[in-house]
Amino acid sequence: MYTYPGNIHIHSNYSDGSGSIEEIVADAAAAGLSYIIIADHNSLDGLPEQAVRHGVVVLVGTELNREKNHYLVLNLDKPVPGSDENPQELIDRVARAGGLGFLAHPFEKGSPYIEKGKAQPWKNWPIFRFHGMEIWNYTSHWRGFHPSPFKTIYHFFFDRKGAMSGPPPELLALWDCYNISGHRVVGIGSSDAHAFPYKLGPISIVIFPYRYLFKTINTYIVLENELNSAFTTARRQIIDALQKGHCYSCFDSLHSGNGFRFFAGSLTEPVIMGSAADYKKGLQLHIDLPSGRSITRLVRNGRVINEFKEKSITIDPPGPGVYRIEVLFRRSFHRLQPWIYSNPIFLEPVLQ
Ligand SMILES: [Zn+2]
Ligand SMILES: [Zn+2]
Repeated sequence: MYTYPGNIHIHSNYSDGSGSIEEIVADAAAAGLSYIIIADHNSLDGLPEQAVRHGVVVLVGTELNREKNHYLVLNLDKPVPGSDENPQELIDRVARAGGLGFLAHPFEKGSPYIEKGKAQPWKNWPIFRFHGMEIWNYTSHWRGFHPSPFKTIYHFFFDRKGAMSGPPPELLALWDCYNISGHRVVGIGSSDAHAFPYKLGPISIVIFPYRYLFKTINTYIVLENELNSAFTTARRQIIDALQKGHCYSCFDSLHSGNGFRFFAGSLTEPVIMGSAADYKKGLQLHIDLPSGRSITRLVRNGRVINEFKEKSITIDPPGPGVYRIEVLFRRSFHRLQPWIYSNPIFLEPVLQ
């Protein structure tokens, strides 16, 4: 079992990001990422730049739609038109073209301090047949973060990490609902990086540079074999892991997510996150954490059923169910912050 960190949903200067793909790759390599996914607005212009560069696998997707219902799409080789008004039609069009689609920042909120409260949430429900959703989007979180002008400024300059809460609870509940009802939906974390330059009088500052964002919310893929050094194979491995939910999201600013493991069965034949197995007595769940400064919550069918303080945990699940993990990182004695969110393992009832 191998894990690789990557950053998903990056805007380059092919749309409204400030950096070229070459500059972005250099920052990704410096941040120790294994892969990145460029997703410019309604554009696949970066496609010719896909390659393994500076040891980083560079994939180019796109973010479709304009005012609402943003849809993050990977694995396309030619553009597909968006549809703000009929996103189900768009989801199906993308699937027919062989694309892999994720709802982008579905519950985005605006802030009165940023662009007059502008937000682009997912508005049309219910929808089906999409592959996954962003459960955690760093830029979108900041867009909706507005406790007060004083607190926002305090957090930005003195405790940026501390401003990060977990994914919105109502979004996690919706994600669980899809998975419990058999519409499997993969959860990913993203940066939605733009590296916007802001002008303060004569000074221009980049508030969240790419290099900073690449150490915030990353999505780690879990592979059976090592990530190949040849682009075509590596691309297939990454797309396959994201499609199947062999991945977890981590707020790396707290502590690296390298070394996290969540699987059922044995290490020689693991059932990894995103996979299903028949539930039977004796089948155990295993969790290994990169740090012991943590509280681990076991979530079954959308409810927390147990909490653990250990760094290595073995559990006898109480029955069939959709099991996922949430981990909080202990920053200090009394301060815990959301850190890791796994995709679920599906333990299915065996019909007699
Ligand atoms: Zn968006
Ligand atoms: Zn975006």
